[in-house]
Order: sequence, then C-alpha cells, then structure tokens
Amino acid sequence: MYITDENGRTDILSLELDELTSVLVQMGEKPFRAKQIYDWLHCKGAEDFSQMTNLSAQLRDKLNEKFCLKSLFICKRLESSADNTVKYLYRLSDGDHVESVLMEYEHGNTICISTQAGCKMGCKFCASTIAGFKRDLLPSEMLSQIYTAQRDSGRKINGAVLMGIGEPLDNFDNVICFLKLLSSKEGMNMSLRHVSLSTCGIVPRIYELAELKLGITLSISLHAPDNITRSALMPINSVYNIEELMKACRYYFSLTGRRISFEYALIRGQNDSFEDAERLAKLLGGFNCHVNIIPVNKIKERSFTSDRAAAQRFKNMLCSLGLNATVRRTLGADIEAACGQLRREYQS
Ligand code: SAH
Repeated sequence: MYITDENGRTDILSLELDELTSVLVQMGEKPFRAKQIYDWLHCKGAEDFSQMTNLSAQLRDKLNEKFCLKSLFICKRLESSADNTVKYLYRLSDGDHVESVLMEYEHGNTICISTQAGCKMGCKFCASTIAGFKRDLLPSEMLSQIYTAQRDSGRKINGAVLMGIGEPLDNFDNVICFLKLLSSKEGMNMSLRHVSLSTCGIVPRIYELAELKLGITLSISLHAPDNITRSALMPINSVYNIEELMKACRYYFSLTGRRISFEYALIRGQNDSFEDAERLAKLLGGFNCHVNIIPVNKIKERSFTSDRAAAQRFKNMLCSLGLNATVRRTLGADIEAACGQLRREYQS
C-alpha cells in the first residue's frame, strides 16, 4: 500500500514487493534490487538503510530520500518469570503508544498485536477504549510490532493474534494489507492458518472478510447470549445485534470452512448464570464453533470481577449442554495488565 509521510516520503515497510519493484524501476534501478531490499526489511529485520550492506552507498542515500522507515521504540518491557510471556509498550513515531504481548506455546511463539492506537468501540469492560481513540495503525506499524519483538527477544515468531488494542475490522484496508505482507513468501512467510483476528462484530466487514478467504481464524467477542445484556456491555450490539452477527458468522463458516471461536469474558452477576449458559447453548448449538471463556480481567476504572473457578464452572455447564468450550489459559499472570492498561498509564 502506498502511504506517504509529512515529508512526502513513501512508507517502505507498507509496500508489497510488486509495489516496491515498480517504485525502484521508476527510480532507474534494476527489479532485483527490490527483492534484496524486501529481504532486508522483512526477513533480516533491518531497521535502517545503512544496514543494507549489499547495496551501494549511493543507492542507500537515494532510499533515504525517497522512503521512510519508522521504527518502534520499546518504552516498557515486562517479562514473566513464570512462562516467558513478554509484554511490550511501544512508542509510535508520532508519540502515541500501543501494546503487544509475546506468548510461548508448545508449537512456537505467538504475538498479540494492536491494530489501532486506542479504540472507538466503547466496550464497558475494556481498558483500550477508556484512553480514547487516536488513529488507525499503518500496515508497517503492525508488522513492526512483530519484527521489533522478534529482534528484541531473539525468538522466532510464527503466529499472530489481532487481539491487542483496537478493532481490526474498523481498520480494514490496513489490516488486510498487513496480512498480505505478513504472509508473503518473499517476506516473513507466516501461514495465515496461524493468525487469528478478533472482532466485536462489525457485521458488513465480516462478510467482506469471508469473501477474501484468507484462511485466518475469526474470533468473535460475544460476551453475552442475549441482546439486552450484550448491548449493555458492548455498544456495537445496538448497531449490529446478535441475530445479524450470527448470520454473518454462519456465512463466514460456509464460505471459508474455518471454525469460529467465540470469546466470552465471564463477569460476575452479569453473564455467568445457568440461564446464560442455556441461552448460549441455544444460540450456538449445532454450529461448528468453539467457546473460549475468559475470567474478566480487572481494570481499575471498573468494578467487574470474575475468577478461574467461576470460569471452570461455566465451562462445565456449557459442555454439559453440548457446546465445545474451554477456559483460556492464563499467560504472564505475574505481569498481568488488562489489554490497554499500559497505554492508559502513558496517556495524559
Ligand atoms: N476489538 C477486538 C479486538 C481487541 S480486544 C475485539 O473486540 O474482539 C481482544 C479481546 O479481549 C476481546 O475479546 C475483548 O472483548 C477482550 N477484552 C477486553 N477487555 C477485557 C477484559 N477486561 N477482560 C477480559 N477480556 C477483555
């Protein structure tokens, strides 16, 4: 994607290889140079044109004039001594902040990244929304969260979840471009089977995403089995209600064959009764899907609470009603900070 900064320079990390090739050819360079540069950027993790040692000094100067290569600054790094989880607070080039979390699973390292600086969606239990919305992240800024964490930790990252700050489907074009770059075989070459995208339920975009058949896993932040409870927790439900959301989910599954994962943050007294479990079973019964129960993370601005024992009980209720449900594993418990909490501390 062609994006220029305030000085008219092109954001090189957001360019797909064919786009980079055509810009270089316009500059009078041979097409193979684009491949070399793309390799430096996406495989070798170069942060600066001066590191591209197989290019002439003259070409590196030209690249500096024509392109910008913005890096992320690691403001804070919290490392769990329990399970190798690392939480990063990054500063963007315009001074705003976003978060990423690097997690270790048996099959490798997965990173949770942010897609926007802040969020407009207003979910009541979420810290990302409290600090307010600033702007969409560029494809390069989503990729940089991965490349910076990889460089800093020395760990190869082979999975990504779009579940950090922001609503990915509210930044659709940039997210799709990011996914293309992430999976490009000349670049990071990440399999999109190892990528999950989580949404609060922007229904028209779910249909659009389905048409692209990317092979990613779609996670739906459901959090309630009926419209009254869901609208009270998530304002988006007043725009696209549960019935419309489920219709879009069924369409997504029918087109992609990918099983949808429903996120359910369990909140004491709001969505954790046996009747809630029954309503959920009625809503999702017969649909090939998975329910992920998360004891709600405490955030200091809200009084919502839950615990693992309650989550386990709710999971058992769902399983006895025939649903496929698990309680999400807790990673980095000793560095726990609910999504958006670190950014919140850094915003005035
Ligand atoms: N905007 C997207 C992705 C970012 S939020 C979405 O809504 O899905 C990632 C997940 O964390 C969502 O399921 C969100 O509902 C959940 N979440 C946010 N705050 C939480 C909290 N305090 N406790 C538990 N889950 C939370």
